[in-house]
Amino acid sequence: MRATVDFLLHDWLRVTELTARPRFAEHSAETFAQVLDTCERIAREKYAPFNRLVDTEEPRFDGEKVILPQATHDAWKAYAESGMLAAAQDVELGGMQLPYTVESAANAFFARASVSIGAGMLTTGNANLLMSHGTERQKAVFAANEFSGRWSGTMCLSEPQAGSSLSDVATRATPDGDDFEADPLGPRYRLRGHKMWISAGEHELTENIVHLVLAKIPGPDGKLVPGTKGISLFIVPKKLVDAGGCLTGERNDVALAGLNHKCGWRGTTNTLLNFGEGKFRPAGQAGAIGYLVGRPGDGLRCMFHMMNEARIGVGMAATMLGMAGYEASLEYARQRPQGRAIGPAGKDPSQPQIPIIEHADVKRMLLAQKTYAEGALALELYCARLVDEQHTGDEAAARDAALLLEVLTPIAKSWPSEWCLEGNSLAIQVLGGYGYTRDFPVEQYWRDNRLNMIHEGTHGG
Ligand SMILES: Cc1cc2nc3c(=O)[nH]c(=O)nc-3n(C[C@H](O)[C@H](O)[C@H](O)COP(=O)(O)OP(=O)(O)OC[C@H]3O[C@@H](n4cnc5c(N)ncnc54)[C@H](O)[C@@H]3O)c2cc1C
Repeated sequence: MRATVDFLLHDWLRVTELTARPRFAEHSAETFAQVLDTCERIAREKYAPFNRLVDTEEPRFDGEKVILPQATHDAWKAYAESGMLAAAQDVELGGMQLPYTVESAANAFFARASVSIGAGMLTTGNANLLMSHGTERQKAVFAANEFSGRWSGTMCLSEPQAGSSLSDVATRATPDGDDFEADPLGPRYRLRGHKMWISAGEHELTENIVHLVLAKIPGPDGKLVPGTKGISLFIVPKKLVDAGGCLTGERNDVALAGLNHKCGWRGTTNTLLNFGEGKFRPAGQAGAIGYLVGRPGDGLRCMFHMMNEARIGVGMAATMLGMAGYEASLEYARQRPQGRAIGPAGKDPSQPQIPIIEHADVKRMLLAQKTYAEGALALELYCARLVDEQHTGDEAAARDAALLLEVLTPIAKSWPSEWCLEGNSLAIQVLGGYGYTRDFPVEQYWRDNRLNMIHEGTHGG
């Protein structure tokens, strides 16, 4: 895979040319290679060996805490220490000023090794959103602690009755007291409602969790504004913090209602969260404290900032699962002897068996997988290169890149989700009955990949 990544980055996308731009001037082909080497190594040592373990040891709730395997804690620590959470940020803020193209390629190694353990996609996306739409204080308190890996992030859009149709979000946010606008962390509201399917919504991997929550502020008549125009965005920390970013020791009113038990991607907790039910608050003080991000009614626009990055990330995850299935089935097909070669006089049963890779139909299935995975990888890295163009190209190039991304971002998510899943099904087929057992990894790749057509936006519509 590394050779393919290097080919796409250098021979096709010419990423080193980006170092001529002021933002990336401190970088070179060598620094890009170092980042890829580091991520490849951490993925090989801390992620790949535990991919099956996190599938079988699902997250569980002991009544107080969500328990995850130690391997997940070790992987998170190694990922945070690598600096990848802040890869794109300014050097002065502890970042690497890395092009998004290289960041995406580097993150691909983690998805290849264990998509289920998960790297920092949600946390980085959450913090990047705050860097674009948050106040200076929100950046310093919330985003900075996410970039360092001390805190992690979620995106809380979906509700039990509002999945694809976010205009029907029913979580309410009401101003918290007469002085609600005077809070240094941002206009302070109390949130009440339920958020369904929230990935990484509860765990002990980090000191705190920064939920980014979509909710509606009722109009003067007390009713929620219909449609997406009424949606606003709030930072709702799991544990309350003071204006300097120190934990106050108090829990916010966000409670785990239950864990969802999934078909795949089991290493990551998935939660139903209750906001404002009073579980962690003294009587009469129910309501999760949330700080408004951006302007009221601008929530979905801000959230789409995160969703677009998340869609390229999801597309890359689907791609890497396709790649993983291809590589596993290729290795198997080279070793599994079955059947004989067809000679001029037909098959000779006295001859030794041949490896199945020599059968034309097995070759077809392997080549189809290779095409899906490598084509999808090219699409993802191309989109990532457009993101760099959008941010650092000249005015016309940036405008063109933004326009093209509007068309390609949903495809970057949907195409690999569908075709690399088909690739995973072919990988199972190449292994035959063995592929259908848990003794080989390919069935897990298929289960993990099945999610990608479902989340991050409708697939066909
Ligand atoms: C494992 C997992 C992790 C998730 N993580 C998060 C998370 O971190 N944060 C978060 O907010 N959400 C998360 N989600 C929620 C996910 O985004 C939703 O499941 C998704 O938006 C679909 O909503 P729904 O499940 O209610 O299905 P529905 O909206 O009920 O849709 C059912 C089916 O109808 C189709 N459909 C619905 N409307 C249309 C339309 N207008 N055009 C075409 N097709 C349509 C859908 O594509 C789907 O196939 C996660 C979901 C899962 C399963």
